Order: sequence, then structure tokens, then C-alpha cells
Amino acid sequence: LTLAVASGKGGTGKTTVAVALALSLAGTRSVQLLDCDVEEPNTHLFLRQHRRTVRTINTLVPRVDPEVCTGCGQCASHCAFNALAVTGGKLMIFPELCHSCGRCLRHCPVSALTETPVPIGTLTQAEDGPLCYWGTLDLGQPMAPPLIREVRKEASVEELTVIDSPPGTSCSMIAAVRGSDYVFLVTEPTPFGLNDLGLALETVKGLGIPHGVILNRSGRADALVEEYCARAGVGILMKIPESRRVAEALARGKTLLDPMPEIAHRFVELMESL
Ligand code: SF4
Ligand code: SF4
Repeated sequence: LTLAVASGKGGTGKTTVAVALALSLAGTRSVQLLDCDVEEPNTHLFLRQHRRTVRTINTLVPRVDPEVCTGCGQCASHCAFNALAVTGGKLMIFPELCHSCGRCLRHCPVSALTETPVPIGTLTQAEDGPLCYWGTLDLGQPMAPPLIREVRKEASVEELTVIDSPPGTSCSMIAAVRGSDYVFLVTEPTPFGLNDLGLALETVKGLGIPHGVILNRSGRADALVEEYCARAGVGILMKIPESRRVAEALARGKTLLDPMPEIAHRFVELMESL
């Protein structure tokens, strides 16, 4: 079973919920946590794991043999991402635009293209404490989805997997949540939070994944989100109250379970109800 925790915007408490959910459920079953927020992975900071194994993740980009290439341009015309261009009869490759789909190789009539690995980041596994994996995108790398897909491959069928998705509704978020069994959308009762919740809802609906909302920093402005969710026919599964005690604990690197230990039981109940 794979549960993704996502949000339309950053700063809503998505990672806070993902870590608390994983730790709460780990009391009843075997759980692994995959941090797919590869531009800013931070779940491990809350879990305080020190022993790690790190491996480099490569993506494949085409390389041309200029002795064989005729400059026909067929590869460029089949690239949906404008990563190839022929100028002056010579093929130019823009690796930062390449999505490693391999289509250009299949359309080269003279087999002038091969694939070459290019490092894009690392995949780290914690060796102590809860089972946790996280991807870290190299600085300057524009494309997170290939690395996110590598982190997703660590999901074990025997374990319950919790995914911390990147914020937003871009390709990165879709790569992180696609194929999961349920998505928790974390939001906050602010106009920005509501706007981006709407975008996230449309995205998970488009992907056909069952979903529900967790309202973080719940308080006096809840009606904003409640009315929207009622109109959209989406359930608010849980409210986490706005609390100075929680904010102070999180600022000290503690998890939500530290100031609110009772929430573990609520996550377990929520899981059972789902
Ligand atoms: S592998 Fe795909 S994205 Fe990359 S250059 Fe070839 S066709 Fe374009
Ligand atoms: S399809 Fe092959 S031969 Fe034609 S431009 Fe591309 S690499 Fe060169």
C-alpha cells in the first residue's frame, strides 16, 4: 500500500504530516518513508538518522557519432522536448532538456545515436532507525522526475510506503504521487492555501487517485477550506490545530508526535477507516 502526502504549495506542513503519519503507522506495521521532495529533502532531519548509504543516480542522454550521422534531422523531429536540433548539417544535443525517453534512438535511420549516463543526483538510504530513503537533486539540475522515479523504485510491496511529495502540481509532484493508492492533500486555511489546494485536487482527480484533505494550522479561518471542500465533494479527514507549542517543537527539529502524541492514534484510526 502506498500513501502519498502532497500539497498544492510549499510551507503547508506536508513533510510534518508525512513524517508523523509514517511514525504513527510504524507502531502497528512495517513502514518505509520515501522523500521524493528531491530539491529539498528534509524528512531525514526529523528522524535523526546518521548511518547512510549513498549511491549516484544517472540519467541516460543521447550521444551522437558524428562519423555516422547524416544530419537528416529525423531524431530532432521526434523529440517532444526540443532537446535536439540540426544546424549546418550537424546535430546539437541539449542534455538539460532531455527526458531520457529514447525516442530519438529509435528513429535514427543509421544508428548514429547511443545513450550515455549523466549523473543527476543521489539516492540515500538510512541504515539506522525507521526505513527511510531520500533523493537529492544535484545543484543546477533542472529535471527532478527521473530522480523521483528512482526513489519510488525503492517502494517495497511488503511494506506500507509513505511518500513525501514535492509541493505544487508540476511534473515532479505527478512523478511522486502517480501509482499511489491514496493521496493526502495537506492545506492551510489561507487564500493561497485554498487556491493551490484547488490545483492539487484537479491534479489528483486527473490521475484518478483517491484522496482526502488534511487541514493544518486549523483555526478561525477554517470555513474557507470547509466550504470549498463541501462544494468539491472532498472530505476533510483530519484537522491539526494552529499551536505555538507545535511550531516551537518543529522549529527545534522535533516531529508532530512530540507536542501532540495523541495524533498517532488519530493517524492509525484514519488509516483503518480508509
Ligand atoms: S531521449 Fe527523448 S527527450 Fe532525450 S533527446 Fe532523445 S527524444 Fe529527446
Ligand atoms: S536521425 Fe540519426 S542521422 Fe539523422 S540527424 Fe539524428 S542522429 Fe543524425
